[in-house]
Amino acid sequence: MQIDGDESSNIEDRRDDGGGGFGGGGFGGGGFGGPGIPMGGGGGTMFKGGFGLIAFVVIALVLGADPGALLGGLGGSDAPSVQAPASSSASRTAPRPAADAEAQFVSRVLKSTETVWSDIFRDMGQVYREPRLVLFRDATRTDCGVGQAAMGPFYCPADQRVYLDLGFFDELAARFHSPGQFPQAYVIAHEIGHHVQNLLGISGKVQQMRESMSKRDGNALSVRTELQADCFAGVWANRADRQRGGKMIDDRDIDQAMAAATAIGDDKLQRQTQGRVVPDSFTHGSSAQRTRWFRIGLDSGDYKKCDTFRAQQL
Ligand SMILES: [Zn+2]
Repeated sequence: MQIDGDESSNIEDRRDDGGGGFGGGGFGGGGFGGPGIPMGGGGGTMFKGGFGLIAFVVIALVLGADPGALLGGLGGSDAPSVQAPASSSASRTAPRPAADAEAQFVSRVLKSTETVWSDIFRDMGQVYREPRLVLFRDATRTDCGVGQAAMGPFYCPADQRVYLDLGFFDELAARFHSPGQFPQAYVIAHEIGHHVQNLLGISGKVQQMRESMSKRDGNALSVRTELQADCFAGVWANRADRQRGGKMIDDRDIDQAMAAATAIGDDKLQRQTQGRVVPDSFTHGSSAQRTRWFRIGLDSGDYKKCDTFRAQQL
């Protein structure tokens, strides 16, 4: 994989904050962050907004074949609860330039997702709200509870941040024997896919539906959510590659990313115990399903093809 270009201004590097500073005073010192954010308040309110319609109908509308319907799902009366600003947590860690090659790579991938999704949202007549990406070690505060490295990468809808411990990439590399960088980019793009779902109101509706479902049905819905994030990652890869004259990735990169997709669907992510880390705590679907939906996004570059909620066959 070759990725060049600008870096994002949305990286929060908390790797030097240490994992032990949850007592209050030590956290966020050194002039970057504000005071620590009390935990437990923000995440719980996230999905309680007033979605007035039966959730399934809304999901059908949001993901409908008609682009106008999708457009209607954005910025409607139920959107504010989803798009609520990250409030005081935004000042927790000030973005700063990437400090090393690994962070620089993450930053470039993030920037690329910002470019791609900004274009797509503009085509929908909407504005893409860029998420932050937090680099951390061991553990860090989130509005979804304490994020821990053992969870693997995750997205917190309540504060609109992707959380990434770079040790996860080392683990991927060790498991797949010099896998190259695209699996890492794919992991980031998948998490960004969850952010897109959040902005589109999909995550909130899924969460709301899950509350009145059997565990089995809820998990099935989560699989569709995960597969859609894979498809969105494919959409990103298609467009980012095209913007670089087809030189960003080759077939080998794609094979490696699919192997990684299998790995991040494993029990590693099931270990997480707290918070509303949505929805990676649930099964991601089979390897074949993940590959298929990533491919649908990758081959088409069209987010409208990512309607995993209506698909008969996953
Ligand atoms: Zn996911």
